[in-house]
Amino acid sequence: TVHLESLRRSFGGTRVIDGLNLSIPDGQLVALLGRSGSGKSTLVRILAGLDDGYEAEVLTRPDSLAVAFQEPRLFPWLRVWRNVVFNLDVPDPRAAAERALAEVGLEGKADVWPLTLSGGQAQRVSLARALAREPRLLLLDEPFGALDALTRRSMHGLVTELWQRYRPTILLITHDVDEALALADRVLVLGEEGSLVTDVAVDRPRPRDPSDRELGRLREEL
Ligand code: ATP
Ligand code: MG
Repeated sequence: TVHLESLRRSFGGTRVIDGLNLSIPDGQLVALLGRSGSGKSTLVRILAGLDDGYEAEVLTRPDSLAVAFQEPRLFPWLRVWRNVVFNLDVPDPRAAAERALAEVGLEGKADVWPLTLSGGQAQRVSLARALAREPRLLLLDEPFGALDALTRRSMHGLVTELWQRYRPTILLITHDVDEALALADRVLVLGEEGSLVTDVAVDRPRPRDPSDRELGRLREEL
């Protein structure tokens, strides 16, 4: 469970988050929208434990969590696969990295250097790094921002699949309302003072993911 009560965060006298209350039950897939500058990434950093300059009456979250940052942060001195499994304790890290890279459509990039990747590829490596950890809480900060529409579609399929596989709690930040409605159980909108102005349950069947055949046909057409 994620549970926040009266969360506040200011930067030099400017209050970015002012009394945020939020509770996310285990296994919920929540989309968070909000204007640029409304405090979404600030919230992600606080939840990830990377910012302790906040005040809160309650802040609980699972210890097992992973973040895909808005700006992919890869170590340039480590090959892609080593970035994916950095600090990950598994018996066969190379295989785990390759599996995660294949999931984000980057098979074949395991041995390249991060600086040779395109923006969208770097973003997917960052996503692969988060997914490979299979955390209880996944914080995805605009993880598809740099992707073309087709790759974005297949990443939507991946998120749905992952969620079905082991039901992590997912906080997905996006500017795309359609994306939020297509993927999430619940849609939140963060207002100007960093408090929730909208909190709605999305009650409808998830759209079918495109089949490999359909994707292949679309790729040929492009
Ligand atoms: P975007 O959609 O553009 O990513 P956001 O909702 O993620 O926006 P944040 O990055 O959380 O917005 O920033 C919220 C506000 O807090 C902004 O006004 C930003 O300038 C300010 N801010 C965030 N981090 C810091 C910092 N370390 N020092 C000073 N101000 C900061
Ligand atoms: Mg942000």
